Amino acid sequence: MPAQIIDGKAIAESVRNQVAAETQQLISDTGVLPHLAAVLVGNDPASEVYVRNKERACQKAGLKSTLHRLDAATTQADLLVLIDTLNLDAGVHGILVQLPLPKHLDSTQILDAILPTKDVDAFHPENTGLMLQGRPRFLPCTPAGVMKMLQVSKIQTAGRHAVVIGRSDIVGKPMAALLVQKGVDATVTICHSRTTDIGAVCRTADILIAAVGIPEFVTGDMIKPGAVVIDVGINRVNERLVGDVDFTAAMTVASSITPVPGGVGPMTIAMLLQNTLTAARIVAGVS
Ligand code: NAP
Repeated sequence: MPAQIIDGKAIAESVRNQVAAETQQLISDTGVLPHLAAVLVGNDPASEVYVRNKERACQKAGLKSTLHRLDAATTQADLLVLIDTLNLDAGVHGILVQLPLPKHLDSTQILDAILPTKDVDAFHPENTGLMLQGRPRFLPCTPAGVMKMLQVSKIQTAGRHAVVIGRSDIVGKPMAALLVQKGVDATVTICHSRTTDIGAVCRTADILIAAVGIPEFVTGDMIKPGAVVIDVGINRVNERLVGDVDFTAAMTVASSITPVPGGVGPMTIAMLLQNTLTAARIVAGVS
């Protein structure tokens, strides 16, 4: 039997509808309108698309969004001044700096400068620490989106072996951290470029999460029959979006799988809206 498709588009829509309803409620209860400020430096075409999609999603859900466009030659000092201005602006609840930044900029210093209570991407070390300790303020959007998909699809995690391929600070590491939390209770293995015999490790996974950035890296023979496969990858190959998993092969082995596009991608944006609403709630004193 072919694998069941986990429909990220539909799950994301229901999250966005929920955020829209709760945003209206927050506005009518407190007058606070959640506001996301996005910062885009330069004109990388993929970043332009991501930022536009985020802005559109905010507007559709009734959140305010403002885009700050800066020239590709912007200096570190000028960008830090903008972050400071947004930090001090009581009307801004969430700040997002679109990555990657141009090479001459130090993204760690920029991301660290965002006020942790406005850090809706949840990249700040304070938010990472809170997440690791199981008392999150915001969850990083992509891993949080994956967790939501597993939960909505009623995929059992407790006691199951989850293998995460990739150890980036944005996806792999926080993904593993969320899977191992009490209440989720997966047994977690992280693979990376130095992992020996990665295929053998992946074949032991009940839940296989690929965040590698290599098109169709996960082949059918790396998947245990009946496993759940979550494909975080977004790779552009000949103008086509391709995941980190060989989708056609995986369909014949896995029990459920996320497609690319229409899987994890839409969830990431939905969770960003959720975090912006949470940030506005913190300001409004509503839990
Ligand atoms: P990244 O920072 O480049 O990290 C990639 C990870 O994969 C690294 O930990 C790397 O290991 C590992 N890796 C690379 N080659 C490998 C190999 N041959 N064998 C095993 N592991 C290998 O990428 P990222 O930011 O985490 O993103 C990963 C993918 O997810 C990309 O396709 C990206 O576009 C996508 N993404 C999607 C969303 C979404 O919304 N759906 C959001 C973010 C990212 P080392 O650490 O050893 O180098």
